Amino acid sequence: MIPAAFEYCAPDSLSEAVGLLAEGGEDAKPLAGGHSLIPLMKLRLAFPTLLVDLRRVPGLAGVSRTDGEFVIGAMTTHSVVEHSPELGLLSRAAGTIADPQVRHRGTIAGSLVHGDPASDLPAVLLAAEGSLTASGPNGERSIAAADLFQDYMETSVAPDEIVTEVRMPALDGWGFGYQKFNRRAEDWAMVAVSALVLARDGVCEDVRVGLTNMGSTPLRARAVEDALRGQPLEAANVAAAAEHADEGTNPVGDLNATADYKRHLARVMCRRALQEAVGAG
Ligand SMILES: Cc1cc2nc3c(=O)[nH]c(=O)nc-3n(C[C@H](O)[C@H](O)[C@H](O)COP(=O)(O)OP(=O)(O)OC[C@H]3O[C@@H](n4cnc5c(N)ncnc54)[C@H](O)[C@@H]3O)c2cc1C
Repeated sequence: MIPAAFEYCAPDSLSEAVGLLAEGGEDAKPLAGGHSLIPLMKLRLAFPTLLVDLRRVPGLAGVSRTDGEFVIGAMTTHSVVEHSPELGLLSRAAGTIADPQVRHRGTIAGSLVHGDPASDLPAVLLAAEGSLTASGPNGERSIAAADLFQDYMETSVAPDEIVTEVRMPALDGWGFGYQKFNRRAEDWAMVAVSALVLARDGVCEDVRVGLTNMGSTPLRARAVEDALRGQPLEAANVAAAAEHADEGTNPVGDLNATADYKRHLARVMCRRALQEAVGAG
């Protein structure tokens, strides 16, 4: 439980942080809440030689709204997101992460860059079609959620980049639902489903569904979306669409659930999340 030796620095500006990360090379890592990185280091599954602590970098936390989208600073904690109800689905999902201690330390960018398919926020970003802004030695770039999650705990944020903000479309008028299944209240999801539904006159005008822990990355349930889009939002149509939730998924069996049980959970949680979204719309 003792990590390998590493250097530590806590720069006061973003440019300094980017410079230090570049100097440190591939084995340097940004440190945010430390609630994923530090346990990995203690288990000796990660061996960064330099940690660049982002805590003192100004301007990286807070929630604001510009035209049609929310901008959430990278260092915004899960607790702040949870208590920002205007963020809708994202706020709902953040409130299900672990316990208050973890939510007061863990950050939105830390969770997204960590890229654990069992984490709550990645599938929400995917379903909402949000994006990240990352700063590196060559300047700033935007990374769409669809391009972010590459493989198990692997994202397209480069080792020399620092995420500065997360952008989420406001999705005004969309209903949302979040259903997470775990054995104990504070555990990671065995399976979770994020649902967003835009209804007009009782008909599904548009729908987006994200799946947590149903493969090596968070996934979109496109077959569910295709089945429900354009249909009257009646219980039977919602239930029939949800039956497609495990199509194209590849869940891994673990101590909590077999792959087949996860597929079953995905269908059930999807139906419940869609029903919740239809009711909340
Ligand atoms: C007991 C426990 C229970 C948990 N349960 C859940 C749960 O139910 N659901 C859930 O979703 N999560 C859960 N988590 C994880 C928690 O949400 C973490 O806080 C989160 O995954 C990582 O955020 P962090 O700020 O702690 O990041 P860190 O641990 O500091 O960093 C994680 C990774 O992201 C990188 N990184 C961090 N910030 C940036 C940035 N701005 N730019 C570039 N790279 C960056 C780091 O270099 C590192 O690779 C749990 C954690 C613990 C300890």
